[in-house]
Amino acid sequence: MASRRRCLFKVIVLGDSGVGKTSLLNQYVTKRFSSQYKSTIGADFMTKELQVDDRLVTLQIWDTAGQERFQSLGVAFYRGADCCVLVYDVNMLKSFEDLDNWYLEFLNQASPADPDNFPFFLVGNKIDVDGGNSRVVSEKKANQWCASKGIMHYFETSAKEDINIDAAFLAIAKNSVKNHSELAQSIYISGVEAASEAEPPRDFCGC
Ligand code: GDP
Ligand code: MG
Repeated sequence: MASRRRCLFKVIVLGDSGVGKTSLLNQYVTKRFSSQYKSTIGADFMTKELQVDDRLVTLQIWDTAGQERFQSLGVAFYRGADCCVLVYDVNMLKSFEDLDNWYLEFLNQASPADPDNFPFFLVGNKIDVDGGNSRVVSEKKANQWCASKGIMHYFETSAKEDINIDAAFLAIAKNSVKNHSELAQSIYISGVEAASEAEPPRDFCGC
């Protein structure tokens, strides 16, 4: 029965170069932080397994390998995304202003079936820098941006100090499970309505 309760979700992480996307992933998956700047990680994604209620969830988290500077991430990067995490640096205004572009870029490239309800998460990273004194984007401003886009989830993190990262990805996993269950439910209901022949509903990933 346990194998029927496995779920895999594809999570895309986007944002300006240098905001800490790779560091967030490294901290989350390997519990390590490096202050050295490396623009390439040599891998497309990292995976992390976690438990959400009675489900074993695998997050397949896609990172850029530095190409975000040229905005040529390719269609394979976006294909089949379940969730998009937009990251900015709370100490760098430009990275916050560029969120609009990343948001649109994702919607254009991934073309989700229901763009108005697609799950975006906003992450304001590097809250540790200078004890918060060099911060230029307030929590209020970030929340206002989220509200303007209908985004429900905002997390402030530090990849360096490992602040709030587990909480952000747990929320992502929970939200993905919830959306997936609702989708399975609606497919099941429309299936029942459409066909009266007694074929059992297909439980496509056991969730
Ligand atoms: P990416 O280009 O978005 O993947 O950014 P990186 O993860 O490569 O990080 C860029 C730089 O910011 C590196 O020097 C990191 O060490 C540093 N960095 C990343 N996250 C944090 C953080 O939360 N706090 C601090 N102080 N530095 C960070
Ligand atoms: Mg990177």
